[in-house]
Amino acid sequence: MTVPPITLNDTTTIPQLGFGVFQVPPPETAATVRSAFDAGYRHIDTAQMYRNEAGVGEAIASSGIPRDELYITTKLNNTNHRTDDVRRSFDESRKLLGIEQVDLFLIHWPLPTQYDGDFVSTWKAMSALVTDGSIKSVGVSNFQPAHLDRIIDETGVIPAVNQIEVHPYFTNEAAREASEGYGIKVESWSPIAQGAVLDDPVITEIAAAHDRTASQVTLRWHIERGDIVFPKSMHEERMRENFAIFDFSLTPDEVTAISALDRGEDGRTGPNPDVFDWIPG
Ligand code: NDP
Repeated sequence: MTVPPITLNDTTTIPQLGFGVFQVPPPETAATVRSAFDAGYRHIDTAQMYRNEAGVGEAIASSGIPRDELYITTKLNNTNHRTDDVRRSFDESRKLLGIEQVDLFLIHWPLPTQYDGDFVSTWKAMSALVTDGSIKSVGVSNFQPAHLDRIIDETGVIPAVNQIEVHPYFTNEAAREASEGYGIKVESWSPIAQGAVLDDPVITEIAAAHDRTASQVTLRWHIERGDIVFPKSMHEERMRENFAIFDFSLTPDEVTAISALDRGEDGRTGPNPDVFDWIPG
């Protein structure tokens, strides 16, 4: 099964489906990512905050997969927003991952109430990593429309992606539309809401009609809306199930019915980026 490539605004391409490793325990990460590679995934989404970049690196090194067939994303930890820390922590990430160039590096959270509200300097330091070839693409995560406006107004550098919470219970249209308005691709995190949407009768009914699982139908909904996704699973059979979403499609009415499950702010499972201020100790 071939995963479609999505072209980003910097002309690079990213596989539309990947594998996320949030909450994959560090000691189990290498084996889990190896299983994901065996299932066909070639795009891995990790973060400094997940503390499992070394395991991702171990899986890459032992996989035998040519580097140019892999797409690796990591994210700047909330501890590292100061400009010196951007470069220093990036070099640590690159070492842990065991790769020269990272495909995509994101500011994990804007933290508008920390660092004197200055995520613009952080963004400039991140962008410099593209200029010197350390990373292919630079992007952001959990940026609200106003955060996007600000970095773009003040630097002229448009992120390649905005990785935000999106799933049927929280379609996050305002952030999606603001991103799309700038030509920024949306990456949908927690695409199956960590399992919370899988018993929804609208989704299970559509799944039954296609002889697919609720997870497959939900992931397919993201794909049809054009978003990039990377579901996480510790189970090989679920990794394979989540990968098998390119040999069927939903009707426009089915896409609309799933989008209508949106609960607005009540559907959010993660923190609101406008107020989230957590800096790990
Ligand atoms: P997901 O929506 O991917 O759901 C993962 C959960 O669903 C796990 O508990 C998993 O269980 C279960 N699951 C996976 N597949 C199936 C299936 N086919 N049937 C039933 N249950 C299933 O949640 P995540 O929060 O992990 O989001 C995905 C990725 O998004 C993360 O790994 C991370 O890369 C990124 N992310 C980014 C954030 C950000 O702030 N930028 C925040 C949160 C996530 P099990 O493992 O036991 O199989």
